[in-house]
Amino acid sequence: QRQKNMRNFSIIAHIDHGKSTLADRILQMTRTVADRDMQEQLLDSMDLERERGITIKLNTVELNYIAKNGETYTFHLIDTPGHVDFTYEVSRSLAACEGAVLVVDAAQGIEAQTLANVYLALDNELEILPVINKIDLPAADPERVRKEIEDIIGLDASEAVLASAKIGLGIEDILEQIVEKIPAPDGDLDAPLKALIFDSAYDSYRGVVLNVRIMDGIIKPGDTMKLMNTNKTFEVAEVGVFSPKPIKRDFLMVGDVGYVTANIKTVQDARVGDTITLANNPAPESLPGYRKMNPMVYCGMYPVDSSRFTDLREALEKLELNDAALQFEAETSQALGFGFRCGFLGLLHMDVVQERLEREFNLDLITTAPSVIYHVNLTNQTQLVVSNPADMPEPGVIESIEEPYVKANIMVPNDYVGTVMEISQHKRGNFIALDYLDNNRVNVVYEIPLSEIVYDFFDKLKSSTKGYASLDYEMIGYRVSRLAKMDILLNGENVDALSFIVHNDFSYNRGKAIVEKLRSIIPRQQFEIPIQAAIGSKILSRSTIKALRKDVTAKLYGGDVTRRQKLLKKQKAGKKRMKQVGSVEIPQEAFMSVLKID
Ligand code: GDP
Ligand code: MG
Repeated sequence: QRQKNMRNFSIIAHIDHGKSTLADRILQMTRTVADRDMQEQLLDSMDLERERGITIKLNTVELNYIAKNGETYTFHLIDTPGHVDFTYEVSRSLAACEGAVLVVDAAQGIEAQTLANVYLALDNELEILPVINKIDLPAADPERVRKEIEDIIGLDASEAVLASAKIGLGIEDILEQIVEKIPAPDGDLDAPLKALIFDSAYDSYRGVVLNVRIMDGIIKPGDTMKLMNTNKTFEVAEVGVFSPKPIKRDFLMVGDVGYVTANIKTVQDARVGDTITLANNPAPESLPGYRKMNPMVYCGMYPVDSSRFTDLREALEKLELNDAALQFEAETSQALGFGFRCGFLGLLHMDVVQERLEREFNLDLITTAPSVIYHVNLTNQTQLVVSNPADMPEPGVIESIEEPYVKANIMVPNDYVGTVMEISQHKRGNFIALDYLDNNRVNVVYEIPLSEIVYDFFDKLKSSTKGYASLDYEMIGYRVSRLAKMDILLNGENVDALSFIVHNDFSYNRGKAIVEKLRSIIPRQQFEIPIQAAIGSKILSRSTIKALRKDVTAKLYGGDVTRRQKLLKKQKAGKKRMKQVGSVEIPQEAFMSVLKID
């Protein structure tokens, strides 16, 4: 009976179309959260999510809904992120559900991530319920959007609910459709336990907390569970659900979405995507699990204070539990010492990881410029995989260098097609197609080197289309390009952490721009510092940081002591993110300056 009245669904949409706000209204309407505890985007519980106004992590909630037919239903709702860097969170969420509520902004219509998320939902064979949100906006055009959903996605949108998550319109209709249209979980209560781990987190009290969807059977504290991929066994300490705070339960049964804790110490023991079964009555085979994510970009992360290397390692290991797409391995840099080369799904992901490391683990980090992975064909017929520009071999032994390309889908209103093509062309894109989605919107398709996308492509697109362009991309493989490593020399010494890979056509301009940029951001010292940009032994550009003329505090001698202390304090704060490299102090900004030039 309970299983028959369960409904498991994710809320999916392009970023900012109102997923988290809709989740708020659902929590309120079902009285899962008392009005006095309600706050906007309640499920975005991380400080970072609240400050940036974006969802980074999936979040699950169990709630009860009394439907118009008088029956009580148990819903498991999963709110998901919309940004392309966090698609992995979405795809993992979908595997735990039977349905997806697809939110589309009534003014914006379908955008790149709307489509990308719909495809993920279709891959998982989910029932999709379209919802047209923000109908309160003056610019809302729900009928046009209804037609877009039918024409572009091919979903029947005749019954799509017209809603406003902000003012609470249409919420009950959505809940009723969830009851009517999304199937109850199938699966067998009497079969051996099969539970999918779709997320995990580290909690300082309970250790590793696994987020699970029970596909068959039942699990309770005291059971000896077995992880089918690693063959490790653990005694179940606690099971429960999020509502949205964790609530202990006596058991989790088929269809439930909740958490399991056991004395699990490391991420290697309980990987996301693994299947939990019971040691004394194991399931014959595991669930399909997840495709492993390959990072798109890499950067080096180094503690500002070198003695905190071990702390950084521990922090990464804990964060990895909550971020299944993060990868890392130890590396050393002549300039920066001991650190890690970390892999990410994109620049926003990289940014979020750095901020979480600094906030949640109290670290100060220097991150080096992001780089994609290059395939380097050597003259001795072997291939080298290079994720750190500093590891690029000497030009003499290189036959050719291949770089990753993506197929980019850029959706824009007609008026901006020219602008988008200009930007894409400038980023070494190859034009593929123009698809008219309807009378006023176009999907512009380009093949572009991933490294160009990673840098500032999306920012450029957004700023030159008044924010209308949306972007989605997928890897299409490696292609030979005319690339070379550019080295930066400070005071005649090559600073490995500043090296980057550049296309021949841009090498002169980029070399010049970066030298200028470094000149303006590296603080003056007591001596002159020459800066040079070089490819191999060829210097492409040079400049000099002039020596400091006088002691900053000298003119204050004999003056007001507190003022002098203030000044010194200010200098110290500014120093926090500096790294001493040889005789030169380099600020964090310098390592990122390659991203900010064109
Ligand atoms: P998400 O990225 O899909 O989770 O979107 P959010 O729920 O964070 O909402 C993005 C922005 O749209 C926020 O500023 C919301 O207040 C706003 N918003 C959400 N739903 C509505 C709506 O129905 N009407 C209006 N006018 N604004 C909305
Ligand atoms: Mg959100």
